[in-house]
Amino acid sequence: MSRVPLRKALADLPPYVPGARVPVGAAAFKLSSNENPYPPLPSVVAAIADAAVDVNRYPDMYATELVEAIAASLGVAPESVVAGCGSVAVLGHVLTAVCEAGDEVVLPWRSFEAYPIAVTLAGAEGVRVPVGADGRLDLEAMAKAVTSRTRAVLVCTPNNPTGPAVRADELARFLASVPSDVLVVLDEAYVEFVRDEEAADGLAAFADNANVVLLRTFSKAYGLAGLRVGYAVARPRLAAGIRAASTPFGVSHVAQLAALASLRARDELLRRVGSIVTERSRMLDGLRRQGWTVPDSQANFVWLPLGDHATAFAERCTHAGVLVRPFAGDGVRVSVGEPEATDLLLEVTADWSRR
Ligand SMILES: *Cc1c(COP(=O)(O)O)cnc(C)c1O
Repeated sequence: MSRVPLRKALADLPPYVPGARVPVGAAAFKLSSNENPYPPLPSVVAAIADAAVDVNRYPDMYATELVEAIAASLGVAPESVVAGCGSVAVLGHVLTAVCEAGDEVVLPWRSFEAYPIAVTLAGAEGVRVPVGADGRLDLEAMAKAVTSRTRAVLVCTPNNPTGPAVRADELARFLASVPSDVLVVLDEAYVEFVRDEEAADGLAAFADNANVVLLRTFSKAYGLAGLRVGYAVARPRLAAGIRAASTPFGVSHVAQLAALASLRARDELLRRVGSIVTERSRMLDGLRRQGWTVPDSQANFVWLPLGDHATAFAERCTHAGVLVRPFAGDGVRVSVGEPEATDLLLEVTADWSRR
């Protein structure tokens, strides 16, 4: 009997490894998924509860009110905003909208582990360009990797998992050298955490370049990872293509109302982001004082380039009550969360350097 074949591309697909979860009944800090450590605001919980009574109905397919609120907050046209079920899903829709089978997509590596998966599923071929030892994207090398087969370039800024943000001058040079018919995706999942004054301004790049698409999310700074809302900002023609490639009704009514309530509470939520940024500095300073060499981080996580010791170090952290995210053979990413979690981490790192 013959079996239903699966697409050949699936055989080589790297798995998406989720960050370790806290076992039921155990006490541990979860610093493994770059989540926001703060629970939702009461106003957001109330919006979620209000939305619950309507879940027998399909949501507004285009998330009209949310899209308008996002557009107003960014100063762009509502036609330029496409909401989706998390920005990971939106990235998939972006690539589906522009890639033909066999097209190339240039991406930094190591970077967000969803990239190779999304590229492959879109039928394209990923071309990986190494990230520097300082954790920074090598935009010059990425521009050089663009060929006549390249349909898109993924720029993760700040880069997950290494942390630095792309600088404005680097991005300007890069955009000037990439052909205008190659899509440049700026993944700004952590943009609210950026404090580097030299960091690139994605919205300005979008205003100046018709081939730039921004990806943003409510999962990190806005603390709605569990509800899955993200969006793309693109010129209206591209946005229409992304919308056409999107899963219908991809953003639930509950998620739409929670995201709207979060935009209304933006000042309060951004104050929390400020506290996380302060905690990030404390984590980076503590590590550097212990002698660790860590890249600058403009996001809500810190990268420890532990190479072959990544897995062993992560196990030590688990024993100490902090769950972190190892990338075997490469390094460990630690999300910035509660101050007590930073203290525990710094105890493990101090111990580790004394070995
Ligand atoms: C977390 C993250 C996202 C956001 O994912 P959602 O699907 O919106 O939760 C996107 N890009 C990067 C680089 C991320 O780290």
